[in-house]
Amino acid sequence: MAEAEKVEVVIVGAGLAGLACAYHLADAGLETLVVERGDFPGSKNVTGGRLYLHPVRRFFPPIWEEAPLERHVTKERLTAMGEGSSVTFELASERFKEKPYHSHTILRAKFDPWLAKRATQKGAIIVPKNRVDDLLWREGKVIGIVASEAEIHASVVVAADGALSFMVEKAGLGQGRKPQDYAVGVKEVIELTSSAIEERFGLSDGEGAAQLFFGSLTEGMFGGGFLYTNIDTISLGVVVGIGALMEKAPGFELHRLLDSFKERPEIKPLIEGGHPVEYSARIVPEGGLESMPRVYGHGILVVGDAAGLALNTGLIVRGMDFALASGALAARTIIEAKKRDDFSLASLSRYEESLKESFVLKELETFREMPHFLQNPRLFNLYPQALAESLERLMWIGEEPKEKISTTLWGEARRLIPSAVGDLLKVWRI
Ligand SMILES: Cc1cc2nc3c(=O)[nH]c(=O)nc-3n(C[C@H](O)[C@H](O)[C@H](O)COP(=O)(O)OP(=O)(O)OC[C@H]3O[C@@H](n4cnc5c(N)ncnc54)[C@H](O)[C@@H]3O)c2cc1C
Repeated sequence: MAEAEKVEVVIVGAGLAGLACAYHLADAGLETLVVERGDFPGSKNVTGGRLYLHPVRRFFPPIWEEAPLERHVTKERLTAMGEGSSVTFELASERFKEKPYHSHTILRAKFDPWLAKRATQKGAIIVPKNRVDDLLWREGKVIGIVASEAEIHASVVVAADGALSFMVEKAGLGQGRKPQDYAVGVKEVIELTSSAIEERFGLSDGEGAAQLFFGSLTEGMFGGGFLYTNIDTISLGVVVGIGALMEKAPGFELHRLLDSFKERPEIKPLIEGGHPVEYSARIVPEGGLESMPRVYGHGILVVGDAAGLALNTGLIVRGMDFALASGALAARTIIEAKKRDDFSLASLSRYEESLKESFVLKELETFREMPHFLQNPRLFNLYPQALAESLERLMWIGEEPKEKISTTLWGEARRLIPSAVGDLLKVWRI
């Protein structure tokens, strides 16, 4: 990229949000350029990852049938980890086996190149290996970008550059970053045979398992672990809040948590004999609705993680469906603006309204209190430990006769009541 160019729309970042936007814009015949700093779409992208498809099907034509999805999830597990013990809840439902499937595990190194190809087939131009360094301005309006010293002018710039969006900062749309609004994840992809995965997780051909973990694995810090089964790999990782990490000892190394996690008896047999084939780390927004930047400005729209569109409820983790939907909605706004030949601030503000009308901001509104609720350290030390210990006491048969179940439960309750009452009241707000 060496000379000045002019296109109708330039998208910064070829993640799911940027590619979804490019796909729709190109499909409507708009000149669309996507600039990506990675070697290829998917090369710098990290997710857990499970994609919930029901919310996003309506935003796309039936392209999912040929998408490189890994396994459809039929088993959900949630594990509370104490020191030396753990409790796992498992939900296996026939409903998860019905087509169209509820959710799929995916690998971004396969999925993003596929979506990029679909966008390119529609006419979008994707330029990898180019980092966008700046925005171009005229009379207070964004009129393009600077990438690899070349200026590219556009009617609209779409910031799809992920969690720590440089574009949002440059455009003055952010509200100041707080460590508590972000978490950092480390992940390994571990190769195993399909049959080993199916045998270890009790799955039939093509079925998958998703497992979330909370408790002692994060050493009391806000965060948790995840495990997703792919066709012939397992995605395994740990996510920790950046605020909590900063309060921990200086120089704390996150990969140490992942190494210990892999050694846990709950994990070790599941990955035994597997070979790590990929290691990655990434920031994820965790601040919810209250930490979102403005999603539109003069000449600019913000999509996906750049707009803080991610949600962690402790039971589910979402961001990819929000990224796909917000990219599609931004494209819709731009297509309408082009029809009216009106790229003014008022015209682009329609994007925010469409996000509010969609599941994206409705979900974030519903779970507005969740980020505050999850900042409670007792969720990551006291409660998982107590749950595992009390179940162990109920199950344990020793030399002495057992006490009544109610005595065991009351003993546990007395230990927890001082903090649990207040915390239970907070549950009603989430
Ligand atoms: C550990 C972890 C686990 C997760 N698990 C799940 C899950 O199971 N399910 C789920 O739905 N979500 C999950 N998420 C969240 C989900 O991955 C994100 O919400 C989603 O990837 C956001 O997509 P995006 O396109 O907005 O951003 P990204 O995928 O981050 O894409 C941004 C792109 O912009 C590019 N870029 C950045 N700066 C520049 C620049 N200056 N110039 C050019 N290009 C640039 C980057 O290289 C990148 O390709 C998880 C996230 C993490 C980190």
